[in-house]
Amino acid sequence: MANPSLLILPGDGIGPEVMEQVMRIIDWFGEKRGIAFDVTTDLVGGAAYDKHGVPLSDETMQKALEVDAVLLGAVGGPAYDNLDFSVKPERGLLRLRKEMDLFSNLRPAQCFDALADFSSLKKDIVAGLDIMIVRELTSGVYFGEPRGIHKEGNERVGVNTQRYTESEIARVARSAFELARKRSNKVCSMEKANVMESGILWRDVVTEIHEAEYSDVELSHMYADNGAMQLVRAPKQFDVIVTDNLFGDVLSDCAAMLTGSLGMLPSASLGAPAANGRPKALYEPVHGSAPDITGQGKANPSACILSFAMALRYSFDHGEEATRLEEAVQAVLASGVRTADLMQEGDKAPVSTTQMGDAVLAALDNSL
Ligand code: NAD
Repeated sequence: MANPSLLILPGDGIGPEVMEQVMRIIDWFGEKRGIAFDVTTDLVGGAAYDKHGVPLSDETMQKALEVDAVLLGAVGGPAYDNLDFSVKPERGLLRLRKEMDLFSNLRPAQCFDALADFSSLKKDIVAGLDIMIVRELTSGVYFGEPRGIHKEGNERVGVNTQRYTESEIARVARSAFELARKRSNKVCSMEKANVMESGILWRDVVTEIHEAEYSDVELSHMYADNGAMQLVRAPKQFDVIVTDNLFGDVLSDCAAMLTGSLGMLPSASLGAPAANGRPKALYEPVHGSAPDITGQGKANPSACILSFAMALRYSFDHGEEATRLEEAVQAVLASGVRTADLMQEGDKAPVSTTQMGDAVLAALDNSL
């Protein structure tokens, strides 16, 4: 049988630096665990613009549609800030999400014990936290029509439209219930059914899908504003949270920051399952291209490494190997080996991006 295929798009800034460490880890899994991938590397963002004049070429887009999973570093940087909107690096990423129809965005918020002090919340509130926010990514108020700014009398009016079809709600709900079955079997759906019709429909459809297909999963509903409060009051009450594009944007950033540093946060965006059962999938760290530290060997590769762990779990059914990799990163952090972004007073000197990669590889070796 052919190896599963992986398209690697390192992108800009620290993207290639953190991706280099991931490539070493992919090689480790091939050599030590017999899990090999057919890996292709290509350009996205500013790097693609420099070569092709567009932030994602048609050929790369086609490859992304054909592979089993895409792993992306980061895009953007000051050199591209003044480009026309249509060719900005971020457009490459948006095109990938749109054409792959990645409607389900998974943002884990996991607090590693060794990093509990980095949270702005009290340690006992976040220590051991492990929740997953599932955000609808391709519809809702960011895409709904009509939209725009027009004149009414003497003043301008800004308009955006929150719009969801039943099938759009149903597919992201299914994705959340499926995930919950692989975790603690609990979903909390968040909307504003008290003041928005789209919220009423959201609640109805999630309830219908639950009753018809997932009654073994525990389902609760919460208004999104209360959800925000609960996330900072008692985040460990949640397992999987499913919500729309706008609320998900805000709630997932809030939840992610419970855990401390941008350099630690992975994400996955999933689409509909293909004929082989694998969903279309894009994995990427939450952070951007970090131009302030690019080229200095300071970037923390953990978020990108943990994004690959998500790929192992959600695209390739290697949940145990994903856990092995996550535990390796945890073990490294617990041993006090840290990149500069995770330094606290009294810590030893920070390690470089490559040294962090070395340490994770050593921890993987120790896990055998
Ligand atoms: P950023 O995430 O790049 O950086 C914010 C801060 O966090 C910086 O101080 C940076 O040094 C630090 N940081 C980020 N990742 C880190 C890591 N792995 N290790 C250590 N420190 C890390 O956000 P920004 O500065 O707002 O944006 C910079 C560029 O990235 C912009 O062009 C922006 O458009 C782009 N961006 C891209 C993505 C993406 O590719 N998905 C996401 C956000 C921003």
